Amino acid sequence: MTRPIRVEIDLSAIKHNYIQSRKQTQNRRALAVIKANAYGHGSTEVATALADVADGFALLNLEDAIALRDAGIEQPLTLLEGPFDEAETRLMAVQKIAGAIHGEHQLEWLRRLDASHPFEAWLKVNSGMNRLGFAPERAVGIAHALAALPGVRLSTLMTHFATADDERGVDEQWACFEPLIAQCGLKVSAANSAAIFRHPRTHGDTVRPGITLYGCSPFEGTTGTDLGLKPAMTLSADVIAVQSLRPGDKVGYGCLFQANEPMRIGIVACGYADGYPRIAIDGTPVAVDGRASRTVGRISMDMLAVDLSHIPQAGIGSRVELWGPAVPLEHVAACAGTLNYELMCAVALRVPRLYRH
Ligand SMILES: *Cc1c(COP(=O)(O)O)cnc(C)c1O
Repeated sequence: MTRPIRVEIDLSAIKHNYIQSRKQTQNRRALAVIKANAYGHGSTEVATALADVADGFALLNLEDAIALRDAGIEQPLTLLEGPFDEAETRLMAVQKIAGAIHGEHQLEWLRRLDASHPFEAWLKVNSGMNRLGFAPERAVGIAHALAALPGVRLSTLMTHFATADDERGVDEQWACFEPLIAQCGLKVSAANSAAIFRHPRTHGDTVRPGITLYGCSPFEGTTGTDLGLKPAMTLSADVIAVQSLRPGDKVGYGCLFQANEPMRIGIVACGYADGYPRIAIDGTPVAVDGRASRTVGRISMDMLAVDLSHIPQAGIGSRVELWGPAVPLEHVAACAGTLNYELMCAVALRVPRLYRH
């Protein structure tokens, strides 16, 4: 018997979500963003499941991209942070893996390539987020310089939005980026999930959905289901002990919780070392054998407690959904002061992943 915890990944939901996200754009090209091990879902498994629908994939590491090629993925691959050194630049060119070019140091590496294997470059413009990219006033000059290099095929002008998900929207950044489109005469890629759903004028040629592929919403106060998406990840673990509490009894580290009345609690085989957030407040939602309940007291490294008082039939072996179709990840994230993004990426490697097709 292994420790009764698992994360189930619904690959058909991810496919549904990809199609649903792309549909928002009148079917423009959509690169499925599978960085961070596909937000914790497994990049090779996700790419394989999307292989017959996806226009391409976006990720971060060359070795992951090569692993996808080895797994038979033939779609275009784009590395969102581009090459990290000269050797990678060469290897990307040879392997036909495109990459963002966002800084002067990368131009140096590109200058040393020859025409035999052109590097597909996505010119990244910093339109206001101040993370990666060339200043907008330099974009046209850099585009010309790249276009003149024999070892480079400049394909796309790209940028990334900082506030596409909130009420500030994309106005400021779009005003900065939009004029460059005509001046550079390149294909355009700007929209992340939030812009796909809320800012159609930014769709350009290629969009980059991430979070929505996994059935979650990029917008605070909404869930993936509200957007017509299907949650793809279910984290669940079983009850491995039951405690009966008298009034005044306490639960867990710090004795954070104290019972006011007789209670029955279940101890669940999931803790922060599995990726469940330690700072989730007392009262975070869970579902026990399909019935709504809540956490009790502090999250331990390997265990947490849930209230079973109103579920008399629940006991050892009961399945507790920590997040999934019955417990929106967004609600758990709100109780932990974080985002659905962080929680899905944080599921620990020690938690077995079970794939459903
Ligand atoms: C992560 C990322 C995305 C996807 O963002 P979501 O909010 O998950 O849709 C798109 N583009 C870039 C450059 C990214 O880093």
